[in-house]
Amino acid sequence: MAFRCVSCGIDFDSAEEFMAHKQSHQAPPVEKPRKGLLCLMCGTPIPLEPSQANYVGEMRCPSCGQIMKVRLEDGEVLFASSRASQT
Ligand SMILES: [Zn+2]
Ligand SMILES: [Zn+2]
Repeated sequence: MAFRCVSCGIDFDSAEEFMAHKQSHQAPPVEKPRKGLLCLMCGTPIPLEPSQANYVGEMRCPSCGQIMKVRLEDGEVLFASSRASQT
């Protein structure tokens, strides 16, 4: 029985070949982009300190200086909005 890649429609005789092929479909094993905060203005990733894994407050983009209100939980961004610049 052949193994077929549903993406390509190619048949493989052995599970090894099939698995190797399937892996080639998957994202290269680069380091996972860590979930983090992206500046809403310029898209710069803003590094989060471990101590900020659970954080509610304001953060400033190191690149453009935009201040955002953020809410972080377990290192994930639940909420982020750029603050209307008031004085
Ligand atoms: Zn394939
Ligand atoms: Zn920015």
